[in-house]
Amino acid sequence: MDATSRRWVEQLSPGHPRRDEAVARLHETLGRLDDLLRAEEGDAGCDAGVPILDEYVDMELRGEDPSTRSPGTAIHLRVCPGCRADHDGLVEAARRFGDLDPT
Ligand SMILES: [Zn+2]
Repeated sequence: MDATSRRWVEQLSPGHPRRDEAVARLHETLGRLDDLLRAEEGDAGCDAGVPILDEYVDMELRGEDPSTRSPGTAIHLRVCPGCRADHDGLVEAARRFGDLDPT
C-alpha cells in the first residue's frame, strides 16, 4: 500500500480524531471523480456556462436553439445536475415572471 492509501486508511479508521474531515474529503473527491467520469467530449464545464446562462435561457424561451451558439454548454447542461438545476430555475422564473419588468 502506498503512503497516500495508508494515510486514508488511518484517517478513516473509527476513532481517528480527524475522521469526519477525512470522510468529507473522500466524498468530495468521489464527487469530482464522478463528474470526470461523466464528462462528455466538448463539455464546456460549469464556469463557461455561468455567465451565459441567462442568455442561453432567453434564447430557448424565444424558441431559438442555444446549442448552435453554445454547444459546449448544451452538452454540459445534459451531464451536470447542478447547472441543470440552475438552468431549470431560470426557465421556471422566466416563465413565471417573464412578463414583468425586472425593475
Ligand atoms: Zn456544471
